[in-house]
Amino acid sequence: MEQDFSQSFQEITLNGPIIFMHWFLTDEKQTVDHITPNVHRLFGYLPNELTSGEIPLLSIIFEEDRELFIETMRKRIAAKEPFWNSTYRIYGKTGQIHFIKIYTYIKFNRLTKEASIFSYIFDQTDLKQEIEMHIALEHRWSTAIDSAQEGVWDWNAKENTVFYSKHWKGMLGYEEHELKNEVHEWRSRIHPEDIAKVDLIIEKHLSNESDYYRGEHRLLHKDGTYRWILDRGRAVERDDTGRAVRLIGTHVDITESKRTEMLLKSRNAELEQLLEKIKELSITDPLTNLYNRRKMVEEIEQAQMCYEQVKNPFTLAILDLDYFKQINDQYGHVFGDEALKLFASLLKENVRSEDVIARWGGEEFIILFPQTTSQEAINILDRIQGLCQTDLLFLNEEKVMLSFSAGVCEYDESCDLDELIKNADQALYDAKAKGRNQIILYKIGLLG
Ligand code: GH3
Ligand code: MG
Ligand code: MG
Repeated sequence: MEQDFSQSFQEITLNGPIIFMHWFLTDEKQTVDHITPNVHRLFGYLPNELTSGEIPLLSIIFEEDRELFIETMRKRIAAKEPFWNSTYRIYGKTGQIHFIKIYTYIKFNRLTKEASIFSYIFDQTDLKQEIEMHIALEHRWSTAIDSAQEGVWDWNAKENTVFYSKHWKGMLGYEEHELKNEVHEWRSRIHPEDIAKVDLIIEKHLSNESDYYRGEHRLLHKDGTYRWILDRGRAVERDDTGRAVRLIGTHVDITESKRTEMLLKSRNAELEQLLEKIKELSITDPLTNLYNRRKMVEEIEQAQMCYEQVKNPFTLAILDLDYFKQINDQYGHVFGDEALKLFASLLKENVRSEDVIARWGGEEFIILFPQTTSQEAINILDRIQGLCQTDLLFLNEEKVMLSFSAGVCEYDESCDLDELIKNADQALYDAKAKGRNQIILYKIGLLG
């Protein structure tokens, strides 16, 4: 067993990471009595270079740490504290600096005034480098965060604290020291109209229903105006239930682009209104506000298509005011215009909502009666003709009579659009020929 132990010990002192050293310390000098052979592997020195004094112990300690090294020893001896540990920098044989940790036990001989010291030394250069790397990384990050165009926030739900970067605060017009690391600093500045939407999106991400968080909201600037902020973030830590406990994200001021976007939206709305108006104008007769010829052709085509699908009958009527030239001649063109408008209103008020009226030209009108037989259409026209006999139009107390003649034709699939209009026109011609103020239904054989 003992054999095993000493063999393993030897192995460790050769290949292990911890150096064992026994040395003496007097006021003048430090003498190494014994040092394990791994000092060669770890720092490059041969044990006998140190034990012989060829390389003095103090000389391998980094210059700036030497005084501290001696001072610490003295203090410990004076305080009679046998155990302590400290860290120093030492030179390796090739001049490279190592960071070492040294655990020490001292036995002090009062007679010889000599301290017998047992030390365990190990190299922590790697650890030190790792720490430095982290510090450098952190420094790099904080520099990046400070110089980024985005404001950075880091919210810790457990502690309910938020880190706001310099730029985050600057975006709202504040100096670093002016805002505290509290959620309130952000939340209290959200525009009241945006808060419900913000809460909804954040809650979705907190409860793990969304992969990331993204929202736009307005925040109150120090100058009293609101700034549009694009807020993006993601949970970097969740608890056992999946709820986010730490969120990191960024803020970007998008006020300018939002303003442009809104301007564009209102311009688009204006443009759409304008287009709507143009569209309306393109299908409207300006005097009577009825549809124009173009729109009527479209409507008839539509009715034809509908007929092909469901075989619903439809009827077309062409109306022409009788002796209208005389009205113009007698009362003037302006009065004639008024008469046309009045007649248009009479038509509009006395057909059904599904019927379509257009001014076909001059004092001619077309009415399309969808899903209507010729007889039903004639009934409607008869009623309108009756209304024309009543007190419709006056000029300076003088009653002016208006009457119209009409030709009616029901659609059947053997005729096309042109024929349908031509047939109705023929019937109208017939009505004129028969003395006007009457409604004639087209029949084959009518004289054109
Ligand atoms: P008929 O019974 O045969 O239809 O006789 P009419 O006088 O109505 O027919 P004619 O075709 O000879 O004349 C139509 C008149 O309608 C001529 C024109 O002065 C008038 N007219 C056409 N468009 C307008 C308009 O926009 N305003 C006015 N005031 N008159 C118009
Ligand atoms: Mg005419
Ligand atoms: Mg006429």
